[in-house]
Amino acid sequence: MRKIQMVDLQTQYQEIKEPVDAGIQEVIDSASFVKGEKVQLFQEHLAQWLGVKHVIAVGNGTDALQIALMSLGLKPGDEVITPTFTFIATAEVAGLLGFTPVVVDVDFDTFNMSADAVRRAITPKTKAIVPVHLFGQCAEMEELLSIAREHNLYVVEDACQAIGSEYTFSDGQKRQAGCMGHIGCTSFFPSKNLGCYGDGGALFTDDDALAERIRVIANHGMTIRYHHDLIGVNSRLDSIQAAVLEAKLPHLKAYTAARQSAAAYYDKAFAGNPHLLIPGRSPHSTHVFHQYTLRLVPPAGVEASVYRDNVRNELQQRGIPAMIYYPVPLHMQKAYLDPRYKQGDFPSAERLAACVLSLPMHTCLDQEQLEYITTNLLQIVK
Ligand SMILES: *Cc1c(COP(=O)(O)O)cnc(C)c1O
Repeated sequence: MRKIQMVDLQTQYQEIKEPVDAGIQEVIDSASFVKGEKVQLFQEHLAQWLGVKHVIAVGNGTDALQIALMSLGLKPGDEVITPTFTFIATAEVAGLLGFTPVVVDVDFDTFNMSADAVRRAITPKTKAIVPVHLFGQCAEMEELLSIAREHNLYVVEDACQAIGSEYTFSDGQKRQAGCMGHIGCTSFFPSKNLGCYGDGGALFTDDDALAERIRVIANHGMTIRYHHDLIGVNSRLDSIQAAVLEAKLPHLKAYTAARQSAAAYYDKAFAGNPHLLIPGRSPHSTHVFHQYTLRLVPPAGVEASVYRDNVRNELQQRGIPAMIYYPVPLHMQKAYLDPRYKQGDFPSAERLAACVLSLPMHTCLDQEQLEYITTNLLQIVK
């Protein structure tokens, strides 16, 4: 059996070696390493793929979120609402820019931001909502967009884990993750669902004026060469990474299907087990399984995190890696401790942080590996 890894990029590379190597070689031959034609082409192809007007490639997903928030004309002290159970990036960039990150609880079943909690968190200073489509499934966008319209707020989607996830509105209209709010952001970090071989990210928008501001901000705030009308940053996708992404984009649908099929195998094996809660599904969104995340239910009298950590250790001993995404909610992170928040304020997020465990998930898991993982986990928790 091939060694089991959380993410197996070596096996995936062997399948696409030829187009990837050829694309990289083309960039080296052209010596057009920055702002080359490859980046242009990839932006166009991804925009077509997503059905969105503008794709602006940048240096990474965190930059994409930062540039998105910079483009909205917010003022210091303006409040930006984001979930407390997520990766740090959304709160980090809001804080860095002098805005106030306001965190809200998530739904225990889908791991995504609770729309009711967002409604309760709105104040006169609220200017933007930044939902995260966590683990590959869209947040409840119809409700979030309607709250945003009601209160005149911007919506910036963090779709770093959810590229290819599709959301269906009640009128039957379907939209891709990252293409519903004013701006969507994604990451091409190697382990993401569409990953390059280094750092990369992008912003999506249908708004021409915002797209123009985003392009200017990502390029030192420069409108005409050496004329800087805005304070910007330097953030760009390099051509070699664009070549890798160009080679991978035609496979994204098949990659998603492979993840979904591994998830279906896990679901079937674990459904009904009293110690393993399979990931809950939104009725409105497809799930592209950036992560397959279980919630572990401890036996009576055992603390959740102790049980979870023991199960993880036993898996490790059997050669099965498993990760905790995420062990500490944002409101409990040292850099973000805020007198407004205390332990117990966001019960679902705190419960999740103590009981989640993500299993290996990638595009090259085979039947033998899946059987080994599920059989062993079922033995451990019995
Ligand atoms: C990966 C990720 C980011 C940041 O992307 P980078 O490219 O690593 O900067 C932001 N938000 C979420 C939810 C992510 O998973």
